Amino acid sequence: CGIVGYVGAQSALDVVIAGLKRLEYRGYDSAGVAVLADGGLAAAKKAGKLVNLEKALVDRPLPSGSTGIGHTRWATHGGPTDANAHPHLDNAGRVAVVHNGIIENFAALRAELAERGHALASETDTEVVAHLLAEAYSSTEDLAEAMRQVCRRLEGAFTLVAVHADEPDVVVGARRNSPLVVGVGEGESFLASDVAAFIAHTRSAIELGQDQVVELRRDGVSVTDFDGAPAQVRSYHVDWDA
Ligand code: GLU
Repeated sequence: CGIVGYVGAQSALDVVIAGLKRLEYRGYDSAGVAVLADGGLAAAKKAGKLVNLEKALVDRPLPSGSTGIGHTRWATHGGPTDANAHPHLDNAGRVAVVHNGIIENFAALRAELAERGHALASETDTEVVAHLLAEAYSSTEDLAEAMRQVCRRLEGAFTLVAVHADEPDVVVGARRNSPLVVGVGEGESFLASDVAAFIAHTRSAIELGQDQVVELRRDGVSVTDFDGAPAQVRSYHVDWDA
């Protein structure tokens, strides 16, 4: 439903939660965040309103980091439980992914992953992406390339945003038939399902095209198609008041 990603100098958790609040009006049933810190990845997710997640974060604070992602979920596959909330992680806990939309061929991908020894922890269509990204990353050692490989295997409509603990200053996003917008700031970059999530920080935005992958860093972004061919990007100024 709502997606926010951040890499910069601020607390990623603060930016991501504030961004998710700006998207709350769309409605959702669960919320979650993941932050890269101290060479690792830490995540928290809760069924219910964002305030439930914020309470959980008070009881069990995440380490502070400046790269992170967040999600508000509108369940399509699997009920609104803590386990089904996003982000979803791979078994090693090195990759986290959030997703809007539906992965139509998830059942075949789940069966394939189970056969290769992956333990799936949720009932969602989304979780397969975390496991597939982890597998692809082990050969590519490049999260954007891993994302391109995985996207070529997915059917359906999706906005995906992922982080990997081995790439602490990178957020990767992808989209097909579902919106994803990049925000370009000064020494910080944003990803969101809607510009409202980052308009308090920057008004320079790039609309991701169909079947494109973006690699987000503090000092800029690069966009390719799913085969890795560089794509033209054109930023525009968001001039409406949020
Ligand atoms: N299909 C995914 C799920 O049910 C994503 C739903 C959404 O767009 O929030 O978890």
